[in-house]
Amino acid sequence: MTATGAQTQLALFGSQPAFPEPVHVGRPNIGDRAALMQRFEDILDSRWLTNRGRQVQEFEKRLAERLGVKHCIAMCNATIALEIVTRALEMKGEVIVPSMTFIATAHALQWQEITPVFCDIDPDTHTLDVERVEEMITPRTTGIVGVHVWGRPCDIEGLTDIAKRNNLKLVFDAAHAIGCGHRGRAIGGFGDAEVFSFHATKVLNSFEGGAVTTNDDALAEKVRLMQNFGFAGLDNAIHIGTNGKMSEISAAMGIVSLDSFDDFVACNKRNYLQYLNELGDIPGLRFVRYDENESNNYQYIVLQVDEEKAGLSRDALIKVLQAENVLARRYFWPGCHRMQPYRSYYPHAHLLLPNTEKVASQLLILPTGTTLGATEIATICAIVRQALALAAQVSQHLASHP
Ligand SMILES: *Cc1c(COP(=O)(O)O)cnc(C)c1O
Repeated sequence: MTATGAQTQLALFGSQPAFPEPVHVGRPNIGDRAALMQRFEDILDSRWLTNRGRQVQEFEKRLAERLGVKHCIAMCNATIALEIVTRALEMKGEVIVPSMTFIATAHALQWQEITPVFCDIDPDTHTLDVERVEEMITPRTTGIVGVHVWGRPCDIEGLTDIAKRNNLKLVFDAAHAIGCGHRGRAIGGFGDAEVFSFHATKVLNSFEGGAVTTNDDALAEKVRLMQNFGFAGLDNAIHIGTNGKMSEISAAMGIVSLDSFDDFVACNKRNYLQYLNELGDIPGLRFVRYDENESNNYQYIVLQVDEEKAGLSRDALIKVLQAENVLARRYFWPGCHRMQPYRSYYPHAHLLLPNTEKVASQLLILPTGTTLGATEIATICAIVRQALALAAQVSQHLASHP
C-alpha cells in the first residue's frame, strides 16, 4: 500500500454521518391531519372529553368489525389492559409468559403479585415453545400469556390445547399484531382475550392507547366494569376497579389512524421487501420473514446477526449504524428475566431460557414506517453491507497474517 491510501475517503465513520438527523425505530405513523383536526373540534364542541363518548364508541365498533370479534374495549394503554384482563380472568399464583417480550408483559403480572414464570421460545418463531410451556406448569399455574411478537402469531392451537387440558386461562399480548392474521382469521378473537397496544411507536397509534378484545360476553362486561372504577351506574360501584379509560382525543387519533391503516401497512411492506431484496442473501444475516399467505402489518424489520458467519457482532453493527445516525434497537435485549426486579427474584431463570438468551443477543431492529422511503432504506442497507464487507476484509487479513 502506498501513501495514497491515506487520501481515500472512508464512508464508514466519515466526518459526517450518512443521515444528518437521527433515524429512529418506531417513529409514529400519522394519518389525515385535517380529519384529525375536525375530530378535535367536534370533541371540544361536544364538551365530552372522556368516559366513553362518541369517538371511543366509534373506535371500539370499527375495531371490533375489522377484527371480527364480538367485544372491543378501548383502554388507556396495553399495560393497564393486561392488568385488568388478567385480573378479570382471576389469574393468580403463577402465569407462564415468554421473557422475549417488552417488559410490560411481565410487569402487568408482577404488579398484581402474580409470578411471571418465564418460558423459552422457539428459536425460529420467537414465540412460546409449547413443549416448554407444558413443562413449566405447576399446581400454582393459573394461566398463560402468549405474545405475538413482531406480529407473528403464537402457536395458537398448541397453546389453546394446553390451556384446555390444564384448565388454564389463555390471554394473548397482541401489542404488535393489529392487522395480522392466523389461518385466515384476524388476531383479536383467540384465547380468552387478546390485548392490543396503540402506543405512538406501534403501527396504529392513538398517542397512548390499547384495547381488550374478546368473544366472551361475561368477561367483556367485567373488563368494562373494572376499567371504570367498578361503576355500574352513577353513584353505584359494584366491583373493585381502576381507571383504564381511553380519552376522546386518543380515540379520534385511533380512528384517523385506522382510516390510513392500509396505507401504513403498504408502506411497511414496501420497506420490508426492499430490505429483504438488498440484504436478504448476506451470509450471517437472517430476517424475520412474514407469512405471505396471512395478513401482516410488517411493522418490525428484525435482523438476526450470527457473528461467526457475518464476521461482526450484533452490537458492533449497532454501533456502526448509530455512528451514521441510524438508531437501530436491540428489542428485547437482555430479556425480561435479566431486568429488575426479575433478575433478583429469579437469578437462575436464564438456565431454562437458552433460545431466549441466544436470540436476544442477536436481534437488531431496523427503522421502517411511513417516514422512510426507498432512498433512506437504500442508504441504511449500504451501511450494513459496507460494515460487513469491511469486517470480512479484516478477518481475511488476519487469516493471511497469522
Ligand atoms: C408496547 C408493548 C406493550 C405495552 O403497551 P403500552 O400500550 O405502551 O402499555 C406490551 N407488550 C408488548 C409486547 C409491547 O410491545
